[in-house]
Amino acid sequence: MKRCVTAGTQRVEYTLIQAVRSDVLFQALPEAGIRVYAPKYMRLRDVDAMVRARAGQLTQMLREVEARLEADRLAHPVVDGSPLLIEGRRCTLRLHEGARRSGRLVGEEYHLTLPEPDSDAAVRAAIRSTLSAVALRRIRARLDYYVPRVGRAPGRVAIRDQKSRWGSCSQKGNLNFNWKLIMAPPQALDYVVIHELCHLHEFNHSPRFWALVEAQMPEYEVWKKWLKTHKEDMYL
Ligand SMILES: [Zn+2]
Repeated sequence: MKRCVTAGTQRVEYTLIQAVRSDVLFQALPEAGIRVYAPKYMRLRDVDAMVRARAGQLTQMLREVEARLEADRLAHPVVDGSPLLIEGRRCTLRLHEGARRSGRLVGEEYHLTLPEPDSDAAVRAAIRSTLSAVALRRIRARLDYYVPRVGRAPGRVAIRDQKSRWGSCSQKGNLNFNWKLIMAPPQALDYVVIHELCHLHEFNHSPRFWALVEAQMPEYEVWKKWLKTHKEDMYL
């Protein structure tokens, strides 16, 4: 739930996530902004008051994470010849100028055509949109494979540009996947597909949930760990 409080001249927008927990957690994420995890029973005005009391600190936290992301982007300019991870393979980006945006993987080279190949932001956006389409196709195909095995079918399936999650499952059984999964090895993508499908049986991370995951992929820990340790390689 999006909320907004004002503290003096400061306006703080935040996303409230009400959860089963006993304490309040404040997070600042680049692009996603400020997130507040609060116990379900806590009154909204009490949460607002806590945010208001920390307005300066939260704004500062957000400024710092955004500056870090910007520095990270400057350190990895995306230009012709830049490395690009696709399906766990280190590929090379090849840029071409053209009216229509398109992407094509030829051997170890990803050929990207776009109207403004000199703009870092445009190149990033074109990589994201062309690879998102590839990711969606791949994820749908893997869902087709695993749905009969796991025994539950999801509702809506969507690709998201999520900063901090590889996938998610809603209460209604809708699944979201991070487009960057296409950068990971196919087994890591499969692990996330299996993970989210298993949430359709167990909406938690209990031992029963992990047993379902393990039944589909005995070596799942390897890929879970891979995703954790390679986040930095997927800097786009
Ligand atoms: Zn989960």
